[in-house]
Amino acid sequence: MRTSRQIINKTEQYGAANYKPKEVVIARADGVMVYNPEGEEFYDMLSAYSALNFGHLHPEITAAAREQLDRVTLTSRAFHNAVLCDFYETLCALTGKEMALPMNTGAEAVETALKTARRWGAFTKGIEDGRQEIIVCENNFHGRTITIVTMSTDKAARRGFGPFTPGFVKIPFGDAKALENAITPNTAAFLVEPIQGEVGVIVPPDGYLKDVREICGRNNILFIADEVQTGFARTGDMFACQHEGVEPDIYVLGKALGGGILPVSAVTANRDILGLFEPGSHGSTFGGNPLASAVALKAMEILVRDDYPRQAAEKGAYFMDKLRQIRNGDILEVRGRGLLIGVEFKKSAAGYVKKLIENGVLAKETHENTVRFAPPIVITYEQLDRALEKIKKAFEKNL
Ligand SMILES: *Cc1c(COP(=O)(O)O)cnc(C)c1O
Repeated sequence: MRTSRQIINKTEQYGAANYKPKEVVIARADGVMVYNPEGEEFYDMLSAYSALNFGHLHPEITAAAREQLDRVTLTSRAFHNAVLCDFYETLCALTGKEMALPMNTGAEAVETALKTARRWGAFTKGIEDGRQEIIVCENNFHGRTITIVTMSTDKAARRGFGPFTPGFVKIPFGDAKALENAITPNTAAFLVEPIQGEVGVIVPPDGYLKDVREICGRNNILFIADEVQTGFARTGDMFACQHEGVEPDIYVLGKALGGGILPVSAVTANRDILGLFEPGSHGSTFGGNPLASAVALKAMEILVRDDYPRQAAEKGAYFMDKLRQIRNGDILEVRGRGLLIGVEFKKSAAGYVKKLIENGVLAKETHENTVRFAPPIVITYEQLDRALEKIKKAFEKNL
């Protein structure tokens, strides 16, 4: 048997160093628990950045995948398949939209939303093609393509990757006035995460999304919600925008949509918006494939049937309350919504993350000082309590 050390060494020898994983090898997983090759167990409190809302190897989702594996997995969009229509129907019902466009990764869904918004700007709003502007927020995370890092304000994400894509305007997050002020006659859309996940679980002021909705409507610009991380129950609502009773014009979805098995992403919107695509204008070889459709369909079925939003809301409130009881002068704030929680320290959180892992809890610092906790939504209260004991051990001593 290979040791974790051997596996890590080989990974580092051949792999591009665009990630710096924590020194844990996950060789096996089940629900909330993961195991290294040496057989040590860990609580997965990151859930692959919310892609594992259902936990690892949810038996109904793996069964749906297995069944589809034996029927047909890939058709390309040159032909129809027998599952995509059901995926469409369920995703449209869940998001309250008339149409969906399937892709694979979150970044591709973001790109799709940007193309949709530019088309809508040119074809519907009447902006001269090539002059469309899209407003985005500082400290956003929308993915890693060149156009997407154009929108980023993170130096590490952009350094050496120019020239960038024109047509983006950056404003502070959580500031509705700034949005109002940034709008010009050429503005096609505003793209925003309802809660900024990657930058450290930043929750906007109450009423922000309501204001955004109102401002976008009044100025005839599209409100695009990037719910790749917050969507599908993570924050205690099916979609984080629903916390303020707000409906964006375009949903950007990914991560949990793949049931923890496959990359599945999508954009949903009404016909007057997504209907602007004609054959040849956009696509993806793997987008909407029958295996992905079957997995996503089952995932969505479980989300609704088992009321994941309520589970995330209740468990999240319990978890956050317990985290707030941990006494450590280094802790600046515990914040979040549902099971998307950030613990911000006054200094680098890397040492505390190391302690967490030593105690059997997998989490990772995001933007230096904040530890993000986003366990699978299926985590039980018993598991939460046991994980909390370990977190307390890791956090109770100043480092
Ligand atoms: C993860 C993420 C993305 C990108 O998704 P990938 O599948 O990694 O391309 C986009 N937006 C948000 C908010 C994300 O959290």
